[in-house]
Amino acid sequence: MTGCNQQRPDRTIVIVGGVAGGASCAARLRRLDESAAIVMLERGKHVSFANCGLPYFISGEIHDRDKLLITTPDRLSQRFRIDVRVRHEVMAIDRQRKTVEVRDHQSGQTYPLRYEKLVLSPGAAPVRPRLPGIEDARIFSLRTIGDAERIRAYLEANDPRRAVVVGGGFIGLEMAESLSHVGVHVTLIELAAQVMLSVDREMAEWIHQHLRMKGVELILEEGVARFSAGDDGSLVVSTDRGNQVPCDLAVLAIGVKPEVDLARKAGLELGPLGGIKVNDRLQTSDPDIYAIGDAIEVQDGILGGPRRIPLANLANRQGRLAADHIGGKEIACTDAYGTSVVRVFDLTVASTGASERALVAGGVPYEKSYTHPASHAGYYPGAVPMVMKLLFAPETGRVLDGQLVGIDGVDKRFDVLATAMQLGATVSDLARLELAYAPPFGTGKDAVNIAGYAASNILDGDVEIVHADQVDGWLGEGALLLDVRTVGEFRRGQLNQAVNIPIDEMRSHLTELPMNGAILVYCLTGIRSYYVCRLLKQHGYRPLNLSGGYMVYCATYPNRCKGIPGLQRWRRALALETFCSTPEERSIVRRNMK
Ligand code: FAD
Repeated sequence: MTGCNQQRPDRTIVIVGGVAGGASCAARLRRLDESAAIVMLERGKHVSFANCGLPYFISGEIHDRDKLLITTPDRLSQRFRIDVRVRHEVMAIDRQRKTVEVRDHQSGQTYPLRYEKLVLSPGAAPVRPRLPGIEDARIFSLRTIGDAERIRAYLEANDPRRAVVVGGGFIGLEMAESLSHVGVHVTLIELAAQVMLSVDREMAEWIHQHLRMKGVELILEEGVARFSAGDDGSLVVSTDRGNQVPCDLAVLAIGVKPEVDLARKAGLELGPLGGIKVNDRLQTSDPDIYAIGDAIEVQDGILGGPRRIPLANLANRQGRLAADHIGGKEIACTDAYGTSVVRVFDLTVASTGASERALVAGGVPYEKSYTHPASHAGYYPGAVPMVMKLLFAPETGRVLDGQLVGIDGVDKRFDVLATAMQLGATVSDLARLELAYAPPFGTGKDAVNIAGYAASNILDGDVEIVHADQVDGWLGEGALLLDVRTVGEFRRGQLNQAVNIPIDEMRSHLTELPMNGAILVYCLTGIRSYYVCRLLKQHGYRPLNLSGGYMVYCATYPNRCKGIPGLQRWRRALALETFCSTPEERSIVRRNMK
């Protein structure tokens, strides 16, 4: 029998990288095997730190740096008897001898270390293109605690007024918010036509408008071409379209590149997207070497091919699964869906699955629906709307993707949706889900149920729909465009060529509508127009509901509208809740917001 403190040197498991995936793997290994020698090698100064918390440390929301340290080498050693070596970098892998070459950055010594099993969790590094001027010390990237400390120290020492954030992904958006939070004016430059590529263009429009409302200047469809020093000593960020933005600091957040050098040099196979290739047991092309986390390619749960998803939940899960397999358990590393959530000022944005863009690129047939449910019962104070996009298979109704933007209650709805999708749910399953309800938390028909109802109505043929980008085509073929909102709503803005008959007057105007030809019906969100579609259909007309209503139309074609019309409502609801505690205060805000 193996004694309490005895380790079997023949069973040495070496882990490269000591943060999300690596630390999870090490701790799980120890829980499964008391006798193995577990050595965790980390190039940096810290292990198991919360990189996801770094933007909030910069904003000061997380005040104490030590709160970012989920655990320490001492704790890992004391509690789990893991041999943690920080500032130790693995320089090479000798697969024949089953050793790694380790450089101790403190002593400058290099030494070999034998392994029986090796786990690679080296993560991904921020992309830093070789642009002119990139070496300016005022250009920052964010990956480690050291990076965050450098940015915070710069903010404290220089009291900068203007920043450029390059890249509108998660980290770019979080940094735009964090810098604004500390009083820095932010210009965000993004090469694509939208921020947050995990959602589709029209869904991103909610984020664009919110960012602008919060004072962030957005420059879309422009790439950064160079950095230079201005006459006044400021840093000037120049774009490929000739824009020049002077600032006091810039943060580069244009994506991450998997750290695959070690694997490549060791002859391990890489995948088509440049990440380390693994099988469903997380083994590389060498079965004694596992790889996990941001460095690998995963199997896309919807499209089936390889995908890179640099997210913490996956890295942690894979760390545990790799440990299970090393510990003798049978595992199958399940597919990945890219389920994510991010806060952008007052908005919460969540997505999972394969976006419309990805489905089109993958040649996968789909249908889509948009709904605008409330965060909780409308009669209970503080209810705010959200917008949900659902993509599903037209034949089977299987959920392929979900995207949700809102202010409150987004994360709860979203995790239900993501879970259902991962378990293979169809839209009618969503409609059937029994979910918890009380007025402060939700609505009798939950947002997820409502998405299921709307999509099921489409699939069952209860309503024919038209999408924003199809409206022009239908109008060209002579369809009637019918706006069923109130006269006041119609006057504030409407689609070109629309005729207004408010829903409550519809029955007395039925005979005025054309029996031959399509009638495109719309309202603000798609609900009232759906009721009208049902009415017209039963009277023998051919109505088509504009999916998502005027709001989604305006989000799809922002240049044709004066912003997304209902957003003012979101803003007002939020301001009322955030700032007012008395009815008097609420009426002042209402007056000011008009
Ligand atoms: P990491 O956690 O990056 O760990 C890799 C470690 O390996 C590094 O510390 C590195 O120093 C070390 N290493 C590399 N090569 C060697 C070597 N040769 N020898 C020794 N050590 C080596 N994900 C989310 O899901 N939600 C979020 O809100 C979120 N926010 C984020 C915010 C920021 C600012 C950042 C940077 C990331 C964020 N992420 C978020 C992503 C998440 O942090 C990563 O997906 C996760 O940390 C990946 O885990 P990993 O183990 O693969 O790599």
